[in-house]
Amino acid sequence: CFVEDNTDIIMEGALIARDRVGVQDFVLLDSHTSEAAFLNNLRKRYQENLIYTYIGTLLVSVNPYKELDIYTVTQMQLYRGVNFFELPPHLYAIADNAYRVMCSEYNNHFILISGESGAGKTEASKKILQYYAVTCPTTEQLQVVRDRLLLSNPVLEAFGNAKTLRNDNSSRFGKYMDIQFDFKGAPVGGHILSYLIEKSRVVHQNHGERNFHIFYQLLEGGEKDLLCWLGLERNPQKYAYLIQGRCAKVFSINDKNDWKIVRKAFSIIDFTEKDLEVWKSKVHPVDGNLLLPILRAVFVSLQLLGVHLSILQEALTHRKIEARSEEVLSPLNVDLAFYARDAVAKAIYGRTFTWLVNKINGSLANKDSTRKTVIGLLDIYGFEVLDTNSFEQFCINYCNEKLQQLLIEMTLKAEQEEYEMEGIEWEPIPYFNNKIICDLVEQKHKGIISILDEECLRPGEATDLSFLEKLEEKVGDHAHFVTRKLADQKTRKSIDWVDFRLLHYAGEVTYCAVGECDRGAALEVLCNSKNGIIRDCFLLSELDSRRRPETVATQFKNSLMSLIEILMSKEPSYIRCIKPNENKEPGMFDDCLIRHQVKYLGLMEHLRVRRAGFAYRRKYEHFLQRYKSLCPATWPHWHGPAAEGVERLIKHIGYKPEEYKLGRTKIFIRFPKTLFATEDAFEI
Ligand code: ATP
Ligand code: MG
Repeated sequence: CFVEDNTDIIMEGALIARDRVGVQDFVLLDSHTSEAAFLNNLRKRYQENLIYTYIGTLLVSVNPYKELDIYTVTQMQLYRGVNFFELPPHLYAIADNAYRVMCSEYNNHFILISGESGAGKTEASKKILQYYAVTCPTTEQLQVVRDRLLLSNPVLEAFGNAKTLRNDNSSRFGKYMDIQFDFKGAPVGGHILSYLIEKSRVVHQNHGERNFHIFYQLLEGGEKDLLCWLGLERNPQKYAYLIQGRCAKVFSINDKNDWKIVRKAFSIIDFTEKDLEVWKSKVHPVDGNLLLPILRAVFVSLQLLGVHLSILQEALTHRKIEARSEEVLSPLNVDLAFYARDAVAKAIYGRTFTWLVNKINGSLANKDSTRKTVIGLLDIYGFEVLDTNSFEQFCINYCNEKLQQLLIEMTLKAEQEEYEMEGIEWEPIPYFNNKIICDLVEQKHKGIISILDEECLRPGEATDLSFLEKLEEKVGDHAHFVTRKLADQKTRKSIDWVDFRLLHYAGEVTYCAVGECDRGAALEVLCNSKNGIIRDCFLLSELDSRRRPETVATQFKNSLMSLIEILMSKEPSYIRCIKPNENKEPGMFDDCLIRHQVKYLGLMEHLRVRRAGFAYRRKYEHFLQRYKSLCPATWPHWHGPAAEGVERLIKHIGYKPEEYKLGRTKIFIRFPKTLFATEDAFEI
């Protein structure tokens, strides 16, 4: 059972080894379920480079911030087809387990990877994909699919990831990727769903952060002809959108090399040169002498965008006002025109990102209609609290609430269903149900998103302040909601509050209620573009004034709802990633930071649930196979039914009635120490 401990156990004795490297499953932690014992175990293991630990079947991973020798092909082969608890905890064990169950039971799975920014979610999801690429059967024909699946990552990372203060390669979009397998277990296709790319980054970056990688890759690595054709200069300092964070060059990133990888990926994913055109228009030159810098950019990018100068110019510098059923153009002041320019840049980036995902999906699509099973990998942005939290953080954190709820429901549900199926009595243990917060955000008519929608339907009348007033009126007395107005009631002289606060399961976040709208006049211009890709992204039907547009918040809510539905129909596996310190430093275990994550990731609750019922359950066959040498009646072979063999075995080794229960197909062991003792007897 403790392979990584085994050599030590043989040489020094079980207790010494355990003392040094901790236990590989938290459920086996003697009698404590204290947070201190939990952290202690995690720390011990981390210091020994054992970054993975189980809580039953859930995997806890702590970012090592250094290359470990545990992702080799030899390691992959080691985990292939081996039972879960027979090898040290590993991503590969989770991946292999999902794969084997999928192949034998022909059902669908997902692996939910969660944790905060920099905790290692994307690395984990890439390593799992590599594991399948290496270990699953394949044919020459399927190599292309395999390569496309793998290469979709560098493309999406180039366009969707950026350097932030917390992570040099931070994913700024949520990603759910289905890997489709045929009946032989070979990967034959895939499909990606993306969630809410952080568009605001296109026009603004905080100090120490960058825009999306692709811009710097293009400038550093782009071929001379290409740059010339695009009208771009190699120096990022020339472009206002790229240097707001003052760190265009990042030590840990090789943009030139990454560009080569992206180009190669493009050709394998089936992109044509023509497809590349659309990305040209994102960067516009700085020119302090011009009143509106967009004018310069317009000249360069007009042809690329496929629109007319005068029309775009007018759209960016004027607003249409309806006056007595007549449309009048009113000029915008400079700030508003900048705002309009930024809105266009954001809209183009956001929509072309979706276009890119669709394009990749086209190349991953498996067209034959035979039934397939899937394993979905969910790598979604973690809970986020910044100095200023905007609408984007609101969506990210709402998404985390939903996934937390799913995890709580599915782990408890799975636990209860298993006891029921096996005919075992079970008493649920209390846990914090964050449904109350999800409702606060998403409930029809009463939730924050509904209130936002209503306000968006009153263009011209609604303001950030009126939105906050509505919030206060409708959800003001909710236990998880506070507005600044309430919070600062004593000192309130002049009202100047634009924020509200939510008490999330993972902590308190203050959001700035500043609105955003990408339905400016430029929308019309882009819908009429001559560039096919831009036209694909901005559909003419959007201009239909009878259409009641969905707000971004509602779109996001709906996409989350359907994600949850997709996940609920599949068998879950969970990987909870922990970030060990804020400095991206190897070997540094920041107790305080980790304790906070252990708390909000609900790891203690999860452990308690696992222990409150039965800490361990094993199929009779597996249990007997492992421990049969402990009883003369079952060693070397037991010829009767496995359940009876197990009964004989545990009678012989002296299990007390309160220590276990026998289900229909499995033995359930209540206390970890019982299994612990059996393991010790077995090892000595
Ligand atoms: P975000 O939410 O910002 O996207 P994330 O959880 O996806 O964050 P990653 O990008 O996966 O975080 O990891 C951040 C960095 O940590 C990686 O670039 C890498 O340097 C390091 N890292 C993560 N996991 C591992 C690992 N298993 N081995 C070595 N280094 C790792
Ligand atoms: Mg990531």
